[in-house]
Amino acid sequence: MKRLGADCMYLDISHKPADFVKSHFPMIAEKLQGYGIDITTDMIPIVPAAHYTCGGVAVDKSGKTDIEGLYAIGEVSYTGLHGANRMASNSLLECVVYAWSASQDIERQFSAILQPQQLPFWDDSKVTNSDEEVVIQHNWHELRLFMWDYVGIVRSTKRLERAMHRIELLKHEIDEYYCHFRVSNNLLELRNLLQVAELIVRCAMERKESRGLHYTLDYPELDQQATPTILVPDNY
Ligand SMILES: Cc1cc2nc3c(=O)[nH]c(=O)nc-3n(C[C@H](O)[C@H](O)[C@H](O)COP(=O)(O)OP(=O)(O)OC[C@H]3O[C@@H](n4cnc5c(N)ncnc54)[C@H](O)[C@@H]3O)c2cc1C
Repeated sequence: MKRLGADCMYLDISHKPADFVKSHFPMIAEKLQGYGIDITTDMIPIVPAAHYTCGGVAVDKSGKTDIEGLYAIGEVSYTGLHGANRMASNSLLECVVYAWSASQDIERQFSAILQPQQLPFWDDSKVTNSDEEVVIQHNWHELRLFMWDYVGIVRSTKRLERAMHRIELLKHEIDEYYCHFRVSNNLLELRNLLQVAELIVRCAMERKESRGLHYTLDYPELDQQATPTILVPDNY
């Protein structure tokens, strides 16, 4: 797909008898029928999908982050269990195990956890409603597309730099939007997505080897020593 700039590849099972296809793949046949694709005669458009991420917010064995009172479990967390890849079905197992150990820790700490301070009211008296909601939708779509194309399965330094350049541009646009218009859920989520995208690209740029799910054309070899690429804030 990358080489050809194609939107999808195709699977073709039309050489098998229709009865065979329908009895072996009844659900997929029915689902695709709804999209106007008859898999006994038509080709099936396919694209790769991401099943999981590696890395995330660093936590200890109880799912505790370094911000007091904040726990992270599941896909968002970096527990150290998975290394540079995930074996099948470990993701859900991790959710269950860490949910349990986090709940145990919360129960133990509960009485000592400080109540959050009262937050100041959000002052939106100086901003107006956006008349250009389409900007958010467009940027959201653009972010998804270039993260998939440049930070997907096969990476290269040039692709990562391209992605970072676009992230910078989008960040600038979103900051401006943020200052002038009322915030909406979509705008907040877009800002969060951009932040996560930036962290993923920065991490990928630091890794000068290919390991697990991280494969880069510029450094196809495996380093002798596995070194995690953990990002910490500058003022930490
Ligand atoms: C295609 C695919 C196949 C997979 N197959 C397997 C498998 O076979 N075995 C396995 O172990 N793992 C598998 N996984 C991985 C596994 O599904 C995930 O690791 C797991 O679901 C993560 O759980 P989670 O609760 O951390 O996150 P999620 O399941 O992503 O849940 C996050 C929830 O938060 C909600 N949310 C997001 N933003 C907001 C917001 N702002 N406000 C309120 N709610 C919000 C979302 O709607 C969602 O319901 C697969 C994943 C994919 C995508």
